[in-house]
Amino acid sequence: MPIVRVAGIEIRIHATFLILVALFAFGSSARGGPGVVGGLLWLAVIAACVVVHELAHSIVAIHRGATVREIVLLPIGGVSKLENLPETPRDEFAIAIAGPLASFGIAALGAAIAGLFGQSLLPVDLYGGPILHKVVWFNLIVGAFNLLPAFPLDGGRVLRSLLERRFDLERATRHAARIGRIVALAMMAIGIFADWWLVFIGVFVYFGAAAEEAATIVHIRLKGLRAKDVMLLNHVTAAELLEHDAPVVAPTADVEREVIPALTASPSHAVVVTESSRPIGVIREEDVEHLIKVDGPERTS
Ligand SMILES: [Zn+2]
Repeated sequence: MPIVRVAGIEIRIHATFLILVALFAFGSSARGGPGVVGGLLWLAVIAACVVVHELAHSIVAIHRGATVREIVLLPIGGVSKLENLPETPRDEFAIAIAGPLASFGIAALGAAIAGLFGQSLLPVDLYGGPILHKVVWFNLIVGAFNLLPAFPLDGGRVLRSLLERRFDLERATRHAARIGRIVALAMMAIGIFADWWLVFIGVFVYFGAAAEEAATIVHIRLKGLRAKDVMLLNHVTAAELLEHDAPVVAPTADVEREVIPALTASPSHAVVVTESSRPIGVIREEDVEHLIKVDGPERTS
């Protein structure tokens, strides 16, 4: 989909975003609505506000040593794809809080402009009101919503970075994920009575919290592990596997970044570790699986 570049960061629109374009065009064409052009203009403004929010995350992340691959616009919001994220709680806090602060910043700017022209921002109307008013309210809502203490929302990351003052990363992640699930359930419960959209977002947050927890724990367990740390010294099997085109990795290959992708691609669910093209060991899928098995939530170690 159409690509823009801002400050060296690629901004991409996901194909599913077209659903939102259709919804806005259709919804705005109704009698008494802002009209198709007005509706699509408002969608473009919303998208721009979301991009500013994501750019704020990305720019702070770059300043703290991360690489930003791209920003993708989805119907439910934007996602910044970051790599080599710094892992100190301080960095996580700064990167996470930057987005909501940017949203509040846009809202404050809009409110100031409205104030300059003596306009009142009330009543709240995200549908038919003047675009400046809608920008203020939309960004206030986006900022506040993202600060909810629930993974994978920004507030969840802020919460985890604060919990890391008392707990290690794994426990802080578990606690933050649990709070995130509770917030998600509350959203769903409130949504049933208030707005089905909130139920939908609650489901998204609930599973997002679980996915974030699992991914973080895999990362913690595998951090710094090399192929030679997890391989079995089985030369016969190694030679056999090589005959069946099993992928090959170096003893120093990083488990998380190199061994797991090789395992995923391996038809025999195993990779051979070679040194100077001589097989010295074997890593099977189950050898890595037992390392990253996520145990019950009350695990202590
Ligand atoms: Zn954000």
